[in-house]
Order: sequence, then structure tokens, then C-alpha cells
Amino acid sequence: MQQMHDAVIVGGGPAGASCALWLARLGLSPILVEASAKLGGLGNDNPFADDWIAVLPGVTGQQVAANIDVSVRAAGVPLRLQTRVSRVLPCKGGIQASLMGPDGDETTVRGRTLVIASGVRAKGLPGHPPGATWPGVLIGPGSPIVAQDYSGLSVAVLGGGDNAFENYVYVRNRGARAVHLYARSVRAQQQWVTRAGTEGVRIGPYSVDPASRSVDGRQYDLILVFYGWEPQAAFADSLQLARDDRGYIRTDVATAETSVTDIYAIGEVAHRMHPCVVTSMADGVVAAKAIQRRWERPGN
Ligand SMILES: Cc1cc2nc3c(=O)[nH]c(=O)nc-3n(C[C@H](O)[C@H](O)[C@H](O)COP(=O)(O)OP(=O)(O)OC[C@H]3O[C@@H](n4cnc5c(N)ncnc54)[C@H](O)[C@@H]3O)c2cc1C
Repeated sequence: MQQMHDAVIVGGGPAGASCALWLARLGLSPILVEASAKLGGLGNDNPFADDWIAVLPGVTGQQVAANIDVSVRAAGVPLRLQTRVSRVLPCKGGIQASLMGPDGDETTVRGRTLVIASGVRAKGLPGHPPGATWPGVLIGPGSPIVAQDYSGLSVAVLGGGDNAFENYVYVRNRGARAVHLYARSVRAQQQWVTRAGTEGVRIGPYSVDPASRSVDGRQYDLILVFYGWEPQAAFADSLQLARDDRGYIRTDVATAETSVTDIYAIGEVAHRMHPCVVTSMADGVVAAKAIQRRWERPGN
């Protein structure tokens, strides 16, 4: 008979890892499924000092991610790394998640509770399938954009938010031959707009051809795309959870429970007011405590 875990947690970023850690320390039996080879989520993409976490001065996002990995392993949480949850269906007494392992092997796990902590992914170019790639077109933000050598290159930066403006300034300071920022409208904070200046910044409609790496007919060596984020939880579509108009999963703020009993959503996939490492980890704690209370109730 297959083991029934107290919680199947999908995603080992700050939200899912924190939930798993707390559940294990509270004496419950979670299992954590993570698509990549490491825990820590988007922090693995941040090589810079993460000065937003009051107790970790000077520590980089990548070090925060590595610490998450150490903490979850120390708590003895069962892990399935390099394993993607492809589908979740209700089953007797809970849910059953279908898993795709590193060698394409398909298995299932079952849980009395499901915790969705699968975060967000950067939006690609509209009109193309999610995850589509082209040589010289980088979808950001993240470490590949930071690690890129820009010396002597012509670069187009696309987007009107903070990340586009911040990276425009970053590339301009790293020896690029020409850098242009294309923004249909400006949503970035004033500090970034001011630092970007007006030379090289084009506001208004534009067209992109990723195959020829051109914007408005002008060819570039590199195109960097910053079109924001979208939730990634298609594996849970069949559960018909209530979502907001952008696809983020709606939850009860006090418990992190979704519109379906015993299914929780935490971290960026549930779109908190200010998503970051700290709010995502706090969400994990909220869900863990709610799950503990749920299964401690008489009759459960
Ligand atoms: C470049 C960059 C810099 C940042 N800098 C900071 C900073 O300095 N300070 C700060 O507080 N925040 C920062 N953030 C934001 C912070 O990283 C996120 O808010 C936080 O990681 C969100 O946590 P999460 O657990 O909700 O999601 P994520 O970190 O996105 O984790 C989700 C995890 O779920 C996994 N997953 C997705 N789908 C599946 C599936 N089907 N099956 C199994 N696993 C799956 C993913 O692989 C991922 O590991 C930064 C983000 C970026 C991109």
C-alpha cells in the first residue's frame, strides 16, 4: 500500500521549503517535490547580496538558496529532486500527484494535503509558446543575464518595468557598443527611469523578430526580455482552484488554503502583496500551522 503523506509539497523554493521544514519539525510527514536539482528556487538565480533579509546581512541570493537546502535536509524531509509534478488528481483520503523523474520515469505520490509552492516563471515573447528560445535572446531577469559579457555588443532591452530599466543601466555600464531600451509604457520606479535617462530609451509600440534578433527592423547582437512574471501551476488545472484575473491562485490569508479544502497555495504562485523570500517563507509557516491544526482536530 502506497504511503499517504500528510502533505505533498510542489516546489522547493523559499515557500515550499519553509513549509516542509515546519511540517517536519511539527512531527508531520511531508514530501517535497522539486523540478530542479537544487532547493532554493529563484534565489539560485540571484548572485547579488540580498540585503532585504534583516538577519542575513551581506549574504547573496545564491547563499540564501544554499542555506535553505541545508536546513531542509537537516530536518530530514524526504525529497524528490529533478522531479516535476505533471498532474494532481483527487483520490480517496486526499490527492495523488503524478511525477516525472530525471530519467523520464513516471511515479506517483499521495498526500492528505497538497501544498502548491511552484512559484512564477518569466514571461516570454507574446505569440510564441512558453519556454521558446532563440540564439541571442535572453528571457530575464537572472544569472545568465548577469554573467553575459556585453563588451562591444549591440543590445536591445525590452520591457517597461523595474527589471528592464535596471538591466538597461547594468548593460550600458558593461562595455556594450550600443544599448537601446524599448518600452511600450513605463511602469518602473522613478529612480530607475532617472538613471536610465532619455538617450537610447524608446517609449511606444515596437515590433520584435526574435529569429533575426531585430527590433523595429534594427538588428542586435543580443535581445534581453523583461516582460514580468506569470504563475506556473498548470499541473493543478484539473482541481479548478479559484484564481485571480492574472491566473494567480486565490487563498485565505490566515491559512493559505485555496478555494478547495486541504489544498494550499503559498509564495509567489499565490501572489502576495510583496512577493520576496521573507513573505514566501512566512507563507510556508502559515500553511504548515494550518495543516497541523487541521489534522489535530478530533475525528481526523
Ligand atoms: C534575479 C532575482 C533576484 C531576486 N532578488 C531577491 C532579493 O534580493 N530578495 C528577496 O527577498 N527576493 C528576491 N527575489 C525574489 C525571490 O527569489 C522570490 O520572491 C522567491 O524565490 C519566491 O519563492 P517561491 O518559493 O514562491 O517560488 P520560487 O522561488 O520560484 O520556487 C518555486 C520552485 O518550484 C519549482 N517548481 C515549479 N513547478 C514545479 C513542478 N511542476 N514540479 C516540481 N517543482 C516545480 C521550481 O523549480 C522552483 O524551485 C529575486 C528574484 C529574482 C528572479
